[in-house]
Parts: sequence; structure tokens; C-alpha cells
Amino acid sequence: MSDQEKHKKENQNIDSKYSMDTHLIYGKNVSNKWDYSHHVTAPISSSTTFRLDSVERGAEGFMQFAQTETHGDESPIFIYDRLGEPNKDMLEENLAYIEKGEMAVTFTSGMAAISGILGILTKSGDEIITHTTLYGCTISLFNNWYPKYNIKVQPIDLTNLENINSVLNENTKVIYFETPANPNLDIVNIRELRKLVDEINKNRNTENQISIVVDNTFATPFSQRPIELGADFTVHSLTKGIGGFGTDMGGVVIGKKKFRDALLLYRKDFGAVLNTKSAWAILTYGLPSLALRQRQQIASAIKIAEFLENHPKVEFVRYPGLKSHPQYEIAKNHMIDFYGNFAPGSMIYFVLKGNTPEETKENGRILMDYIADNAYTMTLAVSLGHTRTLIEHPASMTHSVVPADKLEERGINAGGVRLAIGLERVEDLLLDLEDSLKIIK
Ligand SMILES: *Cc1c(COP(=O)(O)O)cnc(C)c1O
Repeated sequence: MSDQEKHKKENQNIDSKYSMDTHLIYGKNVSNKWDYSHHVTAPISSSTTFRLDSVERGAEGFMQFAQTETHGDESPIFIYDRLGEPNKDMLEENLAYIEKGEMAVTFTSGMAAISGILGILTKSGDEIITHTTLYGCTISLFNNWYPKYNIKVQPIDLTNLENINSVLNENTKVIYFETPANPNLDIVNIRELRKLVDEINKNRNTENQISIVVDNTFATPFSQRPIELGADFTVHSLTKGIGGFGTDMGGVVIGKKKFRDALLLYRKDFGAVLNTKSAWAILTYGLPSLALRQRQQIASAIKIAEFLENHPKVEFVRYPGLKSHPQYEIAKNHMIDFYGNFAPGSMIYFVLKGNTPEETKENGRILMDYIADNAYTMTLAVSLGHTRTLIEHPASMTHSVVPADKLEERGINAGGVRLAIGLERVEDLLLDLEDSLKIIK
């Protein structure tokens, strides 16, 4: 007799044996409607804990947890949400697959994924080399918390890889960067960096190997797969382009299978576990629509970047699809969609003209305030990869952690404007931009 049949038989005398209060909790006890194999869309599996059948099976589940080497990762015994459950596990399988990694572990947010991967790769006394330009909260993580752990972070300009020599030493364990970087869209040559790191690693033992970690949030796996280019790990904020609708937070680390167990243990113990309902939404809405959304956003971004570059009130535009981008050749090599097409992403950074830096900054403020009040197709808000086009001022918003006198060395212009293209018809976006730029003297 199968488990299901056994429970069905038991159900027959349960109705009379127990009270309605108890029935309100247990219902029919076992329902045939709970049938994964016949669902077309995965059900939302919102269960913090899992029935273990017997103490023996429970013990086996705990023994198998985070033992990928010996027990694989195919059909785990689910125990408790924080250790793993169906929605997250399905999402992780799909994320690893599209990003060409061996495994993926999700986290509650992009920041949790970043602190997770760096948490397993470093210990007190170690050092991390980063690019100078990074997402503001990542800078905040490094500046506010890592000194407490005695982990030194060395920001250098990674668009020139020779700079590594000035900070590299035996304590260096990780090279961490975003490419394209938030917000100025600097691009780092992952292929060249791989060669360099391989040379350094030749003279180091297994525990002291340097890992390359790339935050691929801006590009999304549609436009760029850093692991294929030579990175050891990719991290994403799933909150952005992969989630795609601005409804759920999430993060992920993708990389080699041998690091899966450490990431699962770290997530279990530090507790930054992705909410099942968010995992379900990203699995059901985000990933299936990623290519469609990205293709549309990139097509629009190319037209908008060209429009801005030719506009008399714009000083300069940074967009990986423009020949004027300082790393345009690397962008053409790295940012390629699943079919070999150049896919320079949906993010644009630009600076307005002004006779002084103060005037440039003031013009940026005037433009963004005007857009906030008047533009139907653009919203003044942080975040990106949304259905709606979002515009923001990095120096006072996403990167406000950087003091005014440090903006320049972090690659951020005090008046820089960040534009995250949405799904609107591009003609409508151009209409609003053209109209808004008229406000600038
Ligand atoms: C938003 C963002 C993050 C942080 O992601 P959250 O999901 O907000 O924690 C990290 N890196 C980049 C490049 C981002 O844009």
C-alpha cells in the first residue's frame, strides 16, 4: 500500500474521531489535489516545515543537508524552509542553468547574496580587491562592517588591470566587481583578469586561491554570463532585471558545485533565506519573461542613448552600446545574448552640460524634479529592470553613502543621472525626454 493510500484509509474514521476545531487545522488530512506532477505551473509551496514520516527519515534528512558531494542535490528530504524547499530549489536549478553555472543558492536580497559569497570566501586577515565604482550598499558593507571583521577592502580602477599589482599581496582572496558597474557602467575585462588570476594562483595552494566574483545585476544572464568569460562566481540582485516586475526582493550566488554546501550552511546559520512566495514569483513571472523584456528594453535603450548623445544639452552619455563608451570593444565581446547578438543592456548614465560642476549638478536636479512631476512614462525612483522606466540621481540616492569629496574617485559625477529603461514604447519615452530636456537653459 502506498503512503497516499494508507493515509486515505485512515481518513475514513478521522472525521468522527476528532473535533471540528482540530479539523479546521488538518482538513482532509491528505488531499489528492496536492499533486505536483499534474501542475502546469508550479504551486506556491509555502510551508515552513515538512512532514518527515519517521524519525529515521528525519535523521537522514539532517544528515544529507549540505552534503552535495555524497548525497547530490536532486531529491532532498525537505526539513525546514531555511534549509531548502521546493520553490527555491526549482528557482536555483533554473538560475544555474541560464547562467551556465554548476549550482545556485538564493538569498533574501542581492545584498544577502553578496555578503553570503564573501562570507564563505574570506576570514579575518584576508583582503578583497574591488573596482572603485560599486553599488552604494556594497560600498557601505565594505566600509561599515568589514573593518570589524578585520577584512581589508582595496578599491582600485579595474578598467586597467595593471593596477592590481599595486595592492595584490598574499592575503588577497577575492577580486570583486560589477560589470557594467553601478552607476557609471564601467566595464571590466573578465577574460583578461582570468588569465592574470590563473598566473597568480599557480603559485598558491588550494586554500589560498584567489576567486573572481562578478555582480552581474546590470546585465542579467540574458546579456552576459560571467562564468563563461572566466569568473568563479556570479551574484545577482533578483530584485532587479531577473525579477522584472518590481514586486519581490531576492538574490543569488551562482558558481561551482563544491561551494554549494558552504553557501547552504551560511544561509541556514545567518538566516537570509529567500521567501518562498518571492521564489515562486521569480520562477513563474520573472525568468519566463526575461528574454522578452530584455530584448525590448535593450532595443529602447540603444535608441535613447543615441538620442541623448546627440542632444545639445547633454555633456556625455555612458552606454555600453555606444562607440563612445571607453570599453566599447570589451562590451562587444562580453555582452552577448543567448544567440550571439550584441546585448548592451538597459542601463544608461548621462551628465548634463553646465559651465561649472555646481551648474551641472543643479541642471541634473532640475531635470529629475521636472520628470518626477511631469513625465508620464518615467518615474523618479531607485531600482532597475522594472516594467516602468526609472530615473534617479546616484550621488544623492543609491550612492549617497559616498561623501561629496569622494564621488570623483568612485567614478561618480555629482550631477550624473541614471536611467533604467522599462517596457514602454520607445517613442513615448523619447517624447517625455525631449519635452523634459527643454526645461534646461
Ligand atoms: C540593487 C543592487 C544590489 C543589491 O540588491 P538588493 O536586492 O537591493 O539587495 C547589488 N548590486 C547591484 C549592482 C544592484 O543594482
